[in-house]
Amino acid sequence: MLSRIEDWTATVTGLGAALTPEALADWQMGRIRKALTRVREKSTFYRESLAGIAVENVLTPPDLEKLPFTSPEDLLRDPEALLCVPSKEISRVITFRTSGSTAGPKRIYFAEEDLERTVAFFSLGMTTFAEAGQRVVIFFSSSIPGSISDLLRQGIERMGAAAEIHGPVNDPEEAGAAASGADCLAGIPGEMIYLCRTCPELRPKTVLLSMDYAPQSVIEGLEKTWKCRVIPHYGMTEAGYGLALRCHSGKGYHLRHPEIFVEIVDPVTGRRAVPGQEGEVVVTTFSHKAMPLIRYRTGDIAWMDLSSCPCGGVLPRLGGIRGRAAGAISLGGGESIGIQELDEALYSLPEVRNYRADLDLRRPLPTLTLMLDVTAPVPEEPVRRRLQDALGDRLRLELLFGELPLSGGARKRCIHLGADAPR
Ligand SMILES: [Zn+2]
Repeated sequence: MLSRIEDWTATVTGLGAALTPEALADWQMGRIRKALTRVREKSTFYRESLAGIAVENVLTPPDLEKLPFTSPEDLLRDPEALLCVPSKEISRVITFRTSGSTAGPKRIYFAEEDLERTVAFFSLGMTTFAEAGQRVVIFFSSSIPGSISDLLRQGIERMGAAAEIHGPVNDPEEAGAAASGADCLAGIPGEMIYLCRTCPELRPKTVLLSMDYAPQSVIEGLEKTWKCRVIPHYGMTEAGYGLALRCHSGKGYHLRHPEIFVEIVDPVTGRRAVPGQEGEVVVTTFSHKAMPLIRYRTGDIAWMDLSSCPCGGVLPRLGGIRGRAAGAISLGGGESIGIQELDEALYSLPEVRNYRADLDLRRPLPTLTLMLDVTAPVPEEPVRRRLQDALGDRLRLELLFGELPLSGGARKRCIHLGADAPR
């Protein structure tokens, strides 16, 4: 069965049966040119950064290289400079802090139409996750209007299922009681695996993961224990939450092409990556009304898959999405370490429900201290061996065991560094 997202793309673009990757790119470039003209007219930030750009010459995706990137720092510095509507047209302002970052909070502005488009995208995407009449429990943070929980709830209700917002998994017993009997659960990967290992008896049919990248070990752990289907979603607040949903075939993520243009660039040089080459995800939210972003650097890593999808889809998909490029920490000598390697090694142990990683770079050999929260005693040696296999002899390992309650709604997990350690 063709992904609903691709079906929808054919309809929204008006391309119908003529939908090909080339026809889509042409259509998107037309929209991007309109957005460029608009942001240059309406936002003080883009008036300056896009000054001198000949918009009419931005005809093909490679032409986008003529445009400067928008960075998270630009957003932090003066978010209102990026606004394209007067304040009376702002429906919601979402303020959040990226965990592991010492920078101030980001502020993202939404107009009513921006929120509505996200609800419509969720409603469409959720048809692969829930059916009409089913009960969905949402474990994303806060139910305030305009939050991801609120928009997802609206999307789910629109397709005829019932949704309740529980909020973050602070108390796993209470969260388990809320999840009991539900058909579908939606939450952050780290919290869902914690819940799964604390309450293995739950039997949701599907689990939607979002707001952080989904480690393969977590997907497999959930599927095995809860005997459910796991659907990872990739999104970010800056892009109006929804960006891509993994195909039911499991082969790549279908993108929100009619509203957001995605590029992959070399994180160091900023040049466009060739298809299949891993790089940083850069988004242009050309349909956003309040705060459209032009070539916004997300810091996430993925690659573009141009092969056709087993579902019959022909449009580009994202593959291999993983956490933030900036999250990898240099150990010197060309070596680095990222939270992804630890996630894959540790969550593949069925007893591990949470862990904390602290890296000390000041010692002669970098020392990684791992505190493991386990549901049953685990002999230390096999764990140590597994980690050593995964990490090699780059660092010295210290293993500790203890309870690590969830911090509740922490968005993205990271390796902690001493305050004065170099990043
Ligand atoms: Zn597909």
